[in-house]
Amino acid sequence: MATAVITGSARGIGAAIALRLAQDGYDIALNDISEAMFENNDIMDRIRAEGVVCEKFIADVSNYEQTEQMIKDIKSRFVTIDVLVNNAGITRDGLLARMSEENFDSVIAVNQKSVFNMTKHVTAVMMKQRSGRIINLSSVAGLYGNAGQFNYSASKAAIIGMTKTIAKELGSRGITCNAVAPGFIKTPMTDKLTDAQKEKILQLIAMRRYGTVEEIAGVVSFLASKDSSYVTGQVIEISGGLSM
Ligand code: NAP
Repeated sequence: MATAVITGSARGIGAAIALRLAQDGYDIALNDISEAMFENNDIMDRIRAEGVVCEKFIADVSNYEQTEQMIKDIKSRFVTIDVLVNNAGITRDGLLARMSEENFDSVIAVNQKSVFNMTKHVTAVMMKQRSGRIINLSSVAGLYGNAGQFNYSASKAAIIGMTKTIAKELGSRGITCNAVAPGFIKTPMTDKLTDAQKEKILQLIAMRRYGTVEEIAGVVSFLASKDSSYVTGQVIEISGGLSM
């Protein structure tokens, strides 16, 4: 059975991706930063109900040593790692003039450095297998910038550069790497927006609605599937026509 590792997958988009990949037949390695994220949370039961193996691995993906150990643990439990979804992400929004160094550094560490940490350790496994799929969560903020998200936009733009570089470095080893760039998706991350902000955003979206976590998971499923075997180094925007 093939295995998929999804970071930051106790809830939100990551949990939806994990469930969809389980429905596609993958055994699932969930990750989140704390055990508490899995309390009062039925995600593991829902994934196991699909008839696949599902285990959780607690690690802070911004920490190099913790990710290295986690990949060793996942490898010893599941043997192969076939799909990596770099999903964990945080926001610490604010205008550049008022942004603290701490808020800049923490977003870069969790959103950007985590992709280095995870991908470096996972590709060592995938290179030996001579196959693998890596899917990174970027954002429309990384494609177009977003006032009030200097740190977040920087991290999500960096993910696009890393995605294309991984694709170029590892294509000959049978490893593909692509990114998805969601627009506004209904999750705890966007629930933090005020009603006025939400209304303003809706007017910019051609489809006049927020996306669902399942709509992101569907595209990730395609990028993990045989149907996308000749797709690499691409960024797929999933934004209901926010920009075109
Ligand atoms: P979310 O609901 O906040 O879920 C993110 C998960 O990642 C949380 O469970 C979080 O745990 C976990 N996490 C945070 N820091 C971590 C770390 N250092 N190590 C391991 N896990 C960590 O976010 P989401 O909306 O599902 O977003 C998922 C991804 O999609 C992110 O990369 C985000 O930037 C991207 N995205 C989202 C949207 C959107 O509209 N929601 C749009 C574009 C892109 P804690 O809660 O404990 O921090």
